Amino acid sequence: MPPPDSLPPEPDLSLNGLAQPALHERAAALTRQEFGNRVFVRGVVEVSNYCRENCRYCGMRRDNRTLRRFRARSETLAELLLEHRPACVTDVNLQAGEDPVAVREVVLPLITTLRRETNLGISVCLGLLTPALYGELRAAGATIYIMKFECADAAKYAALEAPGTLTRRLEHIRLLAAQGWVVTSGFIVGLPAEQPADLAANLALAQTLPLRGCSVSPFIPGEDTPLCGAPTAPVDGTLNCMAALRLTQPRWVIPAVSALNLTGSDAYRRGLRAGANLVTINLTPPGLREDYLIYKRARFVMTEERVLAVLAAEGLTPSPVGLASLCGNAREPVRPSAALTA
Ligand code: SF4
Repeated sequence: MPPPDSLPPEPDLSLNGLAQPALHERAAALTRQEFGNRVFVRGVVEVSNYCRENCRYCGMRRDNRTLRRFRARSETLAELLLEHRPACVTDVNLQAGEDPVAVREVVLPLITTLRRETNLGISVCLGLLTPALYGELRAAGATIYIMKFECADAAKYAALEAPGTLTRRLEHIRLLAAQGWVVTSGFIVGLPAEQPADLAANLALAQTLPLRGCSVSPFIPGEDTPLCGAPTAPVDGTLNCMAALRLTQPRWVIPAVSALNLTGSDAYRRGLRAGANLVTINLTPPGLREDYLIYKRARFVMTEERVLAVLAAEGLTPSPVGLASLCGNAREPVRPSAALTA
């Protein structure tokens, strides 16, 4: 593997002038060098929108009394994933607000079923839990934990009322890695009052953590949140951070997050030209996903059709090998069942 590329000191990550295409092209070329034209395709299922946390940027915060709360049924999700998942999906991500009840009642039985019936890679994004519960999830068959640090500045993290403290969040990232999880993280670009130094600090913090990937999410002012009147993040800063991450971490998993679609008509595709190597298909059942209120009820849902169309338009193809193999937890390559290919 070639040595990681280096960035000039204190790069201007908010730039959108002549230097931007070159930055993105270098990141895209490195991504193609490492992964070819293949992009990982993960299905996400949103399991519960109950949340005991109160992040100021999120519509599922506990103080939002206007939201209809749901916990999906494990059996319903199992049928969905066993019988109806798209053939290109090699991995699933089970995601929820911070809701330990859903972890016990829905996620753990679902992982057990998926592990028994499929060779899908299983990621979870479930927030801060106890070490024992992390262990149960790992023992059931999940291998990748997504724990975003959101913002590298501890005071700003606290002002956002993000979960716990930044210190505790980082401790849990390290704990998960020590437990044998493959850990990926993420941060938000364009938060209110963000300074250019904040972007550099986010990138620098990511480098210090035991991660195998990191997302860069544009800030979207969420409905029913205290930050609903703040401006949407400029797409350039988001894409530049993605490119900078790729140049420093050639083998990391860097997703094209669906929120890019809310920052510009071609922003999602530009993400795939700025270092992204993972796309996500939303598999949450209609009727539930409208209430998974990360940003707005009128969501731009990345369906199988949309994801495959974007990949084709960019000259990319779904990877037949899942994330678990990239991360050293290889099982057999996923073979679509007859039911899925019929
Ligand atoms: S960002 Fe996550 S932890 Fe924070 S309120 Fe939303 S669902 Fe809960």
